[in-house]
Amino acid sequence: MVEKIEASHPISDRDNPNHHQSSLGLSALTQDQLNTLIAQAKVKCQGGQLPTYIPLLAQANPGWVAVQVQRIQGERVAGGDINRSFPLMSVIKPFVLLFLLEQLGTEAVFSQVGMEASDQPFNSLAQLQADRGKPRNPMINSGAIALAGRLPGKDGASRCETLRQWLNQRSQSQLVLDEAMLQSVRSLPNERNHAIANLLATSGYLDHPEIALDTYNHICCLSGTVTDLAQLGMLLVQDNSMISPEHCRMVNDILITCGLYQASSRFATDVGLPTKSGVSGAMVSIVPSQGAIACYSPALDEMGNSQAGLFI
Ligand code: GLU
Repeated sequence: MVEKIEASHPISDRDNPNHHQSSLGLSALTQDQLNTLIAQAKVKCQGGQLPTYIPLLAQANPGWVAVQVQRIQGERVAGGDINRSFPLMSVIKPFVLLFLLEQLGTEAVFSQVGMEASDQPFNSLAQLQADRGKPRNPMINSGAIALAGRLPGKDGASRCETLRQWLNQRSQSQLVLDEAMLQSVRSLPNERNHAIANLLATSGYLDHPEIALDTYNHICCLSGTVTDLAQLGMLLVQDNSMISPEHCRMVNDILITCGLYQASSRFATDVGLPTKSGVSGAMVSIVPSQGAIACYSPALDEMGNSQAGLFI
């Protein structure tokens, strides 16, 4: 039995009985408290599932849990399997959006993709058809594939490399392309993503569907540890002279309503933190003005979100 989403967010809401949009706990979190939460999360993730459509993801250990809390003020706190490297998968989506907002501006980006929530699965073709070929938001596959089509470069590899360098430089992370994961993604045909790319092309939202899809597959395989993911998350937290605060705010607003697939609205009501998950079990939450929480735990619930990540 897969559990429902927790009605609290233990790290950010630890001290607040009402737990709504609160972040009292981040600055005071201790190593012992985090260790206790990780031990509880290891129990929560039992019963979660590994995805099978990317064979290498199915080889992960469902019991792995890693967490890093990065605070604007104060030290990092980290625990669990923190040396594990994992592909970001859909967690790359908010950072593609951020990159393109910075490079192209809001008008160009939002002429390609909407910002409405979707209650359909992340790879829904029906949603795209219902929206007459315009992707509903950048956090579902249709939106991310459309945006992958706007990254600069001649092919998937060079576009991914441009994004990787930009993110590493600005966030001080050390993302790398996991070539073995990319091979694994390519090893089984993803008919749904192909159909999405083709519909985007016929509806005028994509010029070169094959290049966009290959770019999307590459960027999903950018990999790192929870330290890298927490650093990336900080791009959306700090008023950072290199990133426009307005663009940060837009990405955070979209994450609140769209970051966790069909679970987004429930999580927004219960927790209220901008959060993005990926099918690898990666998850990042932004605690505005305070810091970022990065989690990795590969056991997923029925909506494709990390069970331990939702708990933490
Ligand atoms: N590459 C994955 C896919 O399109 C990413 C999905 C996810 O992380 O949610 O199926």
